[in-house]
Amino acid sequence: SHLTADDLDHIARRQRLLGPAYRLFYRSPVEISRAKGVFLYDKHGNEYLDAYNNVASLGHSHPRVVHAIQDQLGTLCTHTRYMQNQLLDYAEMLIRTFGGELGRTGCAMFTCTGSEANDLALRVARFFTGKTGIIVTAEAYHGNSGAVAAISPSLGKKSTLDPYVRTVAAPDSYRLPVAEIGRRMAEDVTRQIADIERHGGGFAAFIADSAFSSDGLYVDPVDVLAPVAEVVRRAGGLFIADEVQSGFGRTGTHLWGHARHSVQPDIVTMGKPMGNGYPVAGVVLRPELVSEFGASMRYFNTFGGNSVAIAAAKAVLDTIIEEHLMQNASKIGSQILEGLNDLQKKYEFVGDVRGTGLYFGVELVKDRDLKIPDMDRALAVVNGLRDRRILISATGADAHILKIRPPLVFTSEHAGRLLEGIDQALAAV
Ligand code: PMP
Repeated sequence: SHLTADDLDHIARRQRLLGPAYRLFYRSPVEISRAKGVFLYDKHGNEYLDAYNNVASLGHSHPRVVHAIQDQLGTLCTHTRYMQNQLLDYAEMLIRTFGGELGRTGCAMFTCTGSEANDLALRVARFFTGKTGIIVTAEAYHGNSGAVAAISPSLGKKSTLDPYVRTVAAPDSYRLPVAEIGRRMAEDVTRQIADIERHGGGFAAFIADSAFSSDGLYVDPVDVLAPVAEVVRRAGGLFIADEVQSGFGRTGTHLWGHARHSVQPDIVTMGKPMGNGYPVAGVVLRPELVSEFGASMRYFNTFGGNSVAIAAAKAVLDTIIEEHLMQNASKIGSQILEGLNDLQKKYEFVGDVRGTGLYFGVELVKDRDLKIPDMDRALAVVNGLRDRRILISATGADAHILKIRPPLVFTSEHAGRLLEGIDQALAAV
């Protein structure tokens, strides 16, 4: 063990004060005292390369966001029940990033977290359709409130999914015939809609993260969600795109993940990188979906869309656009993907490499033919990288898929350092 007496004291204190529900990353947890750009620093000044961060996606302590927050906090921080031009300017800018009708006539509602955004999306979908049934992917995660935990099977076998929730298999491009994935998923959704209808309650919505992050990161093929959306619409349900992970340029080619699949969602939810660390999240949707909801119920979120949140969000979106960070994600992402593909050739246990933009899944298997998940090796690689001061994690039902998600400001040099570290960590296991 690398744990010092100080570490053990800290961990015991943490367990006492925060209780048993909190979990730390890594066998040898990292104590962070500051962060800048793509690096985290411990109290001894050791530098860690952050390749696992979809919050500080412009890099940590980004000066433009820091100044926007500081200036606004020193001027005014209040809620959405006062007239504030910045709120409307940001809403307008955000809505215009969407294609089709949503971009022309959509409206924006603000929350503090991705969970709240999904919670609101579910409320709206159920109110509008008058139905309760929700379809999600088999290892989906949509958040931590009661309502969204109940549609998040990835929380574990003991988490209670509500009786009106049905799951469909994720588009596992490593195990399923690629040309059939979209058709199969649409068939699964059709079957589950029928099941929901049969058991009462009716079908309200399908919700998915287009990167299928917690299912195992299946970013290709991109012709999977259009046939699903068609089936959903035909059944009178709504298509909700959870962009908490895949939004704001992460995938390199489109600002929004669902656009890679050429689908037009009814509701889009977003969060995580939206404020580069300041809690701000939201929903963009067709206004007619909330007209009755808004008329018959009051919706108010004290901190959602407050003046500081909006200042942070505006600075983030401006920076992504003006500094061409999506294009950077695409360019540096290609370099990393190429390097990961080389590592797949080098190591027999690297079964599959997937990625788009700055978002990658590296699937570790015990046997290339049988494709048996190798959780122990994935855990060893994640911890081996941590010991080399490079931070990543793992995903999927068996936690055997390395999940790599660097800030959008990664440079070619950072990419080289990441690949070298991964090569060494793979060689060591
Ligand atoms: N949806 C997805 C796809 C997520 O990954 C997450 C967070 N990991 C959430 C929703 C919930 O966001 P938050 O933690 O901000 O509530």
